[in-house]
Order: sequence, then C-alpha cells, then structure tokens
Amino acid sequence: MPNLMISISGIRGIVGDGLTPQTVLNFAMGLGSYLGGGKVIIGRDSRVTGPMVQHAVISGLLATGCDVVDIGVCPTPTVQMTVEKLKARGGIAITASHNPIEWNALKLIDSSGMFLDETQGKEVLKNVEKNDYRNVTWDQVGKLEKYEKAIDDHIKAILKLKLIDIDEIAKRKFKVVVDCVNGAGGTILPSLLKQLGCETTFINEEPTGLFPRSPEPLPENITELCEKVKSEKADIGFAVDPDVDRLAIVSDEGKPFGEEYTLVSAVNFVLSKKNGPIVVNASVTQAIDDVAAKFNTKVFRTKVGEIFVAQKMKKEKAAIGGEGNGGVLLPELHLGRDAPLAIALTLQQLASSGMSSTELHQSLPQYFQGKNRIEIKDLDVNSVLDAILKKYKKENIDKTDGIKILWKDRWVHIRPSNTEPIIRIYSEAKSSEEAEALGFKFIQAIQEIIEEK
Ligand code: MG
Repeated sequence: MPNLMISISGIRGIVGDGLTPQTVLNFAMGLGSYLGGGKVIIGRDSRVTGPMVQHAVISGLLATGCDVVDIGVCPTPTVQMTVEKLKARGGIAITASHNPIEWNALKLIDSSGMFLDETQGKEVLKNVEKNDYRNVTWDQVGKLEKYEKAIDDHIKAILKLKLIDIDEIAKRKFKVVVDCVNGAGGTILPSLLKQLGCETTFINEEPTGLFPRSPEPLPENITELCEKVKSEKADIGFAVDPDVDRLAIVSDEGKPFGEEYTLVSAVNFVLSKKNGPIVVNASVTQAIDDVAAKFNTKVFRTKVGEIFVAQKMKKEKAAIGGEGNGGVLLPELHLGRDAPLAIALTLQQLASSGMSSTELHQSLPQYFQGKNRIEIKDLDVNSVLDAILKKYKKENIDKTDGIKILWKDRWVHIRPSNTEPIIRIYSEAKSSEEAEALGFKFIQAIQEIIEEK
C-alpha cells in the first residue's frame, strides 16, 4: 500500500511517513468548509498517534467555524451515534480501523451519522485539492467542548432495543472471554457485558493503542482468544478490531466462527423476530441467501463498503444488513457497523434459543471462502476485467461491484482494489478445498490474461 492514501473516503496513512499534521489539518478544514460550520463530533480509537492527529483535526475544524465536541477514546459507531444524538452537522472518527499500529486515518461522518457518500466525499476532496477553505474571523472561530456520556448513551441505546431482553440474557450468566487488542473496545465492552450479567475475562483490555498482535480479527490473529475460551471453559469468545465496528466470534470449543458468520448469525436471529429485506455487500457469503430464504425475505447486494450498505438499507427499509468482515448494522440503532450491538444480538440469540455457541454455529448454513489477490502493476484494470467478462460471458454474472460469477452453490468475485494495484479474487463453495480450487482456477485465468497483454 502507498504510505498516504487520499480519496473521497478520506485520508489514511503511515504516521511520520506520509500522514502528517498538515495533511490531517487540510482534511479537517476540507470537511469543516463543506459542513459550513456547526457542531462536529470527534472521537478516536486508542492509537498512540491519536492525540497528534486529533489536535490537527480540532484546529482545522475550529478554524473553519465548527464547534467541536470531543467524546474521547471510543468506538467508531459511538461517534456516529453521537452525531445523531446531539444533532450535530457531522463528525470525524480518528482511526485506521484494522490497519497496523503505524497507521492512522480519518473517517468522515455527515449529519445522519452515516459516512460521507461519494458525492459528499468529492466535495471535501475538492476543497482540499484547491486549498480552498472557509475562512472565519476571530469571533466566528469555533468552540471546543467535551462530552463524557457518549459511551453510556451507546450502551443504553443497545440495551433499550426491543430485540434485547436483558433479564433473559442475564439469567444464563454467560462466561465470556473478550480480546480488545488494546483498542477502543476496552472503553465500552466491560460495562456492556456487566450490564448483561456476564462473567467476563478480558485479554488486551487496556486502550493503550499498543496492539500486541495484528489488529484485524481474523482467525489466524485471535489464537490467544481461542485458547483462553477453552482454558476458561467459557461459553463464547469475542474479538473486536481497534475501532470496534467489526466482531469475530469464537465458539465454546475454541473455534472461530469465521468473520462472515457474525453477520449470518445476527441475520438469522433478527429475522426470527421481525421481517424485512436484508442488505449485504457483493462479497458476503451465500449463507445469507439461505437464511433469508428460510424466512422468505429478499436480499439486496451492494458494492463493498459500509456507506453503500447503509444507504441501501435506508432505501429498502431493511430489517438488518452488514458486511462479511464482522460488521452488523441494525437500522433502529443506527446505520453503521457496530460490534457491541453484534455482541448483544449474539448473546440474545444464545439466550432465546438455549443453544451453546457451537450448536449455534453448526445450525447455520455452512460455506467456505478463499481470499486471494493478484498484483496487476501498471496494467489497466478495466481491460483485465473486460477480458474476464468476455471469457465467461455465458455464465451467470453480477456486476454490482467488479465481476461476480455465480453457480448454484458456489461463486467467484473478482474486484479491483480502490487503493492498491491489485485484483482481489474471493471464491466460495461448500468445502474449503472446493473454494480454494475455484479461486486457483481464476487466478490462473487472470494470470493468462495478464500475460497476453
Ligand atoms: Mg474497524
């Protein structure tokens, strides 16, 4: 990845080697100018570079006439919800999400509490590129204040959901192990789980920003959690990413559900309680379609990215939606991926069904995915995609995001990265061997196309 990525979805870079206070300041001023002043909520994950980035953000917002409300170290979904709650004009979550420790980034939020869409992002970027910012006089420079209750508000909103029965969950006295990777999860999950009557063991709880492992909650990165769930004889394990919008689940046997299954499980539960369409991105497992079919409801698919899912959910009045990376969105809470929400829904499902976490996992339709990538260097991505389309034109093809070729119980999804010169190849089938073989077949096909060019 390049060390600094500037795009319509904001700015992301390696601190000290691309991401500087100046670049951050420009983006904050770009957003402040786009919003035209008004209240702006800011929060950050626990990264050690957070205060440096935060001060540049605050300066840029105040200088463009925005009143800044700082809610401190917290999950990204908490920032989104506070924008809505305090009727702010926008927000900035200072986080590089699941990226390694040396990265930081800004996620830009509009008055709806949703991330900026492509059109809005372009406006902010235009301000930055033209170096054209709202200029206010001394008496219009914004004010800075703190709001300390954002995390409590977030927990209360989850516990107040109709879908959640606190007493029913508390009765089970779940034994839960949680890995917060020393990210922002430690600011919210101890209190949430306590209020749900759980007995908890935390690893990497302190929000020091010193990630003891690769921060993405993939099965290969959460082996310590898996071991701990077994040694503690816990009912379930949870791992979150540093900004707590993604959740991975570990069964009582110490086996990761796989990130796709956080959403599958949540959809299965929510549809058992209320009806409505489902919105997921194009790469999400077909298990979602099987669950939706069981409840006789429709699945809409979008491009990969939270904002695409959130916008479609709003439009279709979805019951629930999300992404296969462990991101769950529930419209009655807010239209953003939310790991604390996903934890509450998972515990509620265990409580209502009486199942163990292993039984829950096994009750869901099983698919396996292969995730691969090919470097395309300076080749034109579109010409490669066109060649694939031509070669497979007789197949069932979905062009929502790149090219997805579907068969009855398997698919392959080929999409260019927005940020790197690579093509991602995701494949899915009923066994991991079949999924790998399918992915490999398409890697070969794409390599042949690249060699011919
Ligand atoms: Mg994240």
